[in-house]
Amino acid sequence: MAVRPFIVGNWKMNGTRAMLSEVRAIDRASQRLMKVEVALAPPFTLIHAAHKEVEQIGVGAQDCHSGDGGASTGDVSAAMVLDAGAKFVILGHSERRQGHDETNAVVRTKAASALAAGLRIILCCGESEAVRDAGKAEAFVLSQLSESLPDGLQNASEMLTIAYEPIWAIGTGRTPTVEEIGAMHRAIRALIVDSYGEEQAQGVRILYGGSVKPDNALELLSDDEVGGALVGGASLSAESFLGIVLAAAEIPD
Ligand code: PEP
Repeated sequence: MAVRPFIVGNWKMNGTRAMLSEVRAIDRASQRLMKVEVALAPPFTLIHAAHKEVEQIGVGAQDCHSGDGGASTGDVSAAMVLDAGAKFVILGHSERRQGHDETNAVVRTKAASALAAGLRIILCCGESEAVRDAGKAEAFVLSQLSESLPDGLQNASEMLTIAYEPIWAIGTGRTPTVEEIGAMHRAIRALIVDSYGEEQAQGVRILYGGSVKPDNALELLSDDEVGGALVGGASLSAESFLGIVLAAAEIPD
């Protein structure tokens, strides 16, 4: 892994204040594993409380609205999550694309708003099982990503992270092979180079997400093009999440 590995936990619609003890445990252990950048994206309701608990790890949001504010009941703007303590936002997760009809155009608008507010973004992409079986995974992911990436981003290396998450691997216990992940990440890297130039693209980390656990993390993170992991289920307990962070720390520079 050529860059500092980035391990991000996505708590999805899980977590009440009782789970702040997990946040604290993850943060304290991460202080001894500085080789790895660690972050958590709890639900909106816990962002501020989690931010108050941590000294080392980043806290982020799982989504934000593209608008600045106003008559949009139930939505939360980028400026609001920043104000609550978020440093980044996950955008375009497949559960939002599928469950909330988020198109690439919507994701791109959200990305522009988040960046304008000063949030780093983790942009998700990934194919369905049918698309992979049809041999069209790479074409699908590249088109999804090129339509979702924000235009004119000057500091991509600092502000942008990509998460490749095949939908069929999320929460299923199934994963692609290391070769399949590496091939997809190389194709994504080429797109990022085309979009933002070689120098900026070098610093953009491409995370893998989908059933990453402590016992498969070392293998799934072993390709040079895998810059870390976006972790769902296994991020809900400090013990399993830290197992993944420890695996990332073991990967030679
Ligand atoms: C996710 O939803 O981002 C994810 C990777 O979930 P899991 O780790 O549970 O497959």
